[in-house]
Amino acid sequence: MNYADILQQQKTFFNSQATKDLDFRKAQLQKLKKVVKSNEKLLYDAIYQDFGKSEFETFGTEISFIYKDIDYYLKNLKSFAKPKNVLTNIVNQLGSSKIVFEPLGNCLVIGAWNYPYQLTLTPVIAAIAAGNTCMIKPSELPENTMKAMAKLINENFDAQFLYVVEGSVEETTAILKLRFDKIFFTGSPRVGKIVYKAAAEHLTPVTLELGGKSPAFVTEKADLNIAARRIVWGKFINAGQTCVAPDYLYVAENIKAKFLKVLIEEIKKRNYTDNVDHYCKIINERNFDRLEKMIDREKVVFGGETIREKRYISPTVLDHVTWDDAVMQEEIFGPILPILTYKNLETAMQTVVEGEKPLSAYLFSNDAKEQELFTEKLSFGGGCINDTLMHLSNDRLPFGGVGNSGIGHYHGKFGFIAFSHQKAILKKSNYLEPELKYPPYSDAKLNILKKLL
Ligand code: NAD
Repeated sequence: MNYADILQQQKTFFNSQATKDLDFRKAQLQKLKKVVKSNEKLLYDAIYQDFGKSEFETFGTEISFIYKDIDYYLKNLKSFAKPKNVLTNIVNQLGSSKIVFEPLGNCLVIGAWNYPYQLTLTPVIAAIAAGNTCMIKPSELPENTMKAMAKLINENFDAQFLYVVEGSVEETTAILKLRFDKIFFTGSPRVGKIVYKAAAEHLTPVTLELGGKSPAFVTEKADLNIAARRIVWGKFINAGQTCVAPDYLYVAENIKAKFLKVLIEEIKKRNYTDNVDHYCKIINERNFDRLEKMIDREKVVFGGETIREKRYISPTVLDHVTWDDAVMQEEIFGPILPILTYKNLETAMQTVVEGEKPLSAYLFSNDAKEQELFTEKLSFGGGCINDTLMHLSNDRLPFGGVGNSGIGHYHGKFGFIAFSHQKAILKKSNYLEPELKYPPYSDAKLNILKKLL
């Protein structure tokens, strides 16, 4: 069966109205949870084969998100899907107004490779909760996780509702020619543009979850131990292959030497080495080579070990980095942490303001003025003060980029809205029928209109 036929089946199924039923949506979410639960081992094995990711990290950063999101929507679905009454303006009295949350229809979810289960399946969970069908294209780079997801979904769900496409650029290009009602893409800004162009052909709405160079500022008002601990965790989890990882550090010049010591001690303490289970590999040789070229040997102050056959790059810190260095020319997406220093925080932030808007930003400071400056001056998708990454774990916060780092949001209610159309309904009473808006017009009517509006 080709993709156009599968999409046609999904269109027919959606038009049957079956997915709009809340009991249907709940049953599918419960089923997905059961299927993931009974196949957890398959999922752990597949990701370990692909890039050596441990069960601990896979549960903490992937599988637990799937369960959390399913439980969240099971709990909140009724209230999210309930039409929302809003006030009615004076010219529509006597009347009532409401917003109806309508599923968009047939969705396409394209996932990235770095958290393959979480980034592919949590948008699908939001799409199901909102009452849609889904075609799903996981990233082909981690081949075993792609196959595991295809097995899980295609063997347990009807293709007219959910279907996983296996394949690479050729297959993605083919499905992007089809007319979907929504495309949800996670990946690089480069491919995001390809997806956006394809979507424009059919005026299909998109959510684009992209990336960028996310800064972390460490000021003289920071707790340096806390900053080091939370930066090291956020940077080296998944071997730096995290869209919201702190890409580089901007550190106040007068505390840099002291902070660097604390930072290096913290990395040593975490024992990231090539033979333990808590540090994963670089996804493939192409990325390994790309990362290795970014390591300027003269600037390495910690780490810098690389073993190509194991796709291993040790946590690496580069000091005395400037904007001209290779490592500052693109998103790193690996375990290399460059350090830039600043004399004036506001000037340092201005250099970020003048570049592309990052997906995330972090500030380590206990000073209210610096915190305000960070919040007000910089534009970025989302971030933390005195932590890294953790903003994405709060379902009450929207997750998404801005400018070059993305379009739209998801997580929690924002995910439900991303896959819904908010239909406006005004219900008028038949009792009041002022003559005012109807011709023939007159000066008297115009005077009243001017007063009213
Ligand atoms: P990518 O853009 O290379 O690939 C993403 C998806 O696009 C994959 O499924 C791939 O098969 C598909 N694809 C690749 N080339 C294509 C083409 N020419 N035409 C059509 N489809 C194509 O991204 P990636 O390497 O998987 O992930 C890394 C990037 O994703 C980084 O920039 C990272 O910051 C970003 N990212 C963002 C988020 C987020 O939530 N905002 C999460 C993870 C990763």
